[in-house]
Amino acid sequence: MSSVTTDTPLAFRQTPSSKARILAERDAILANPGFGKHFTDHMVSIDWTVEAGWHDAQVTPYGPLLLDPAASVLHYGQEIFEGMKAYRHADGSIWTFRPEANGARLQRSAKRLALPELPIDLFVESVRQLVKIDANWVPSAPETSLYLRPFMIANETFLGVRSAQKAAYYVIASPAGPYFAKGVAPVAIWVSSDYARAAKGGTGAAKCGGNYAASLLPQMEASEHGCAQVLFCDPQEGKYLEELGGMNVFLVMKDGTLVTPELSGSILEGVTRSSILQLARDRGMKVEERKVTLDEWRRGFETGDVAEAFACGTAAVVTPIGALKAKDFEVGDISAPAGKVTMSLRQELTDIQYGRLPDTHGWMTRLV
Ligand SMILES: *Cc1c(COP(=O)(O)O)cnc(C)c1O
Repeated sequence: MSSVTTDTPLAFRQTPSSKARILAERDAILANPGFGKHFTDHMVSIDWTVEAGWHDAQVTPYGPLLLDPAASVLHYGQEIFEGMKAYRHADGSIWTFRPEANGARLQRSAKRLALPELPIDLFVESVRQLVKIDANWVPSAPETSLYLRPFMIANETFLGVRSAQKAAYYVIASPAGPYFAKGVAPVAIWVSSDYARAAKGGTGAAKCGGNYAASLLPQMEASEHGCAQVLFCDPQEGKYLEELGGMNVFLVMKDGTLVTPELSGSILEGVTRSSILQLARDRGMKVEERKVTLDEWRRGFETGDVAEAFACGTAAVVTPIGALKAKDFEVGDISAPAGKVTMSLRQELTDIQYGRLPDTHGWMTRLV
């Protein structure tokens, strides 16, 4: 059952870590956190069963999960996740960006993967609980953040194939350095022609581990061709742009129109995507969510009708795309400077996230 609020708010039981790292150790990590390598001292967990619903919300020391080898997630892949960030503002306060949108998306993902829906207020509270206890892990250097990874697994001990009757939700957090250590630079993208990440009627619109598993082989192919990311086209005709393995894609046309593939049912609806569409509309830019053929992009790069292209998502925010490569063609040039519209949208979005611009849309939620 979908709900925005819990009937009776769950209280989080706290067990502070006795192995919390000392200041010097934490500072050494925060000075060069990388991405997804180091984790904070605590984690959140909430259990769910068919009979009891959501219960036993806890903040505990970070550590391994105890899973029965027959736990259904290990066999049938019932897993969903979210990705968000906590940002430290200049006054020391800590904020996150549109957490209700992530909470709502986790509910949609849960529905598709036949997992229980976590109430949105409980989702936001779970993130707040973790950031509060591990507030010292939120870095303060420019473009750094605490990456938050809420996720849910089916953990029933049962090899029969049916939806889970037992599940668990967790939140872990990892300090993140600037995604582009040497400054934002355009990347080349590989067009996958042999593989799709999602199918018609499949799980493409859900944020689930399975979609990522399907994208890793094509991602390796992209690396072999010197490309940073892989672009997937629609699974039926292989003709229309969909998205990258973990980022949505935009084109900026010569006349200033911002174009992004319309939500097809197999595209993941990014919070960054929807925020960029809003910022562009606020600027009075013409915005189109429509079908875009690969051919339009390829020819547009050649003729100049497509002036800029970029990918977007929470982790990298906005990544300029300089070149497009496929089995039978190669267009663009990654040594050309990043597009102006791309970079100014990136700047505006990060200025809002880091509290350097007013939050006119009510996107920011204070955590600490
Ligand atoms: C998470 C994700 C995105 C980006 O979503 P954001 O909410 O902007 O971080 C795009 N595509 C896929 C496949 C994703 O999993």
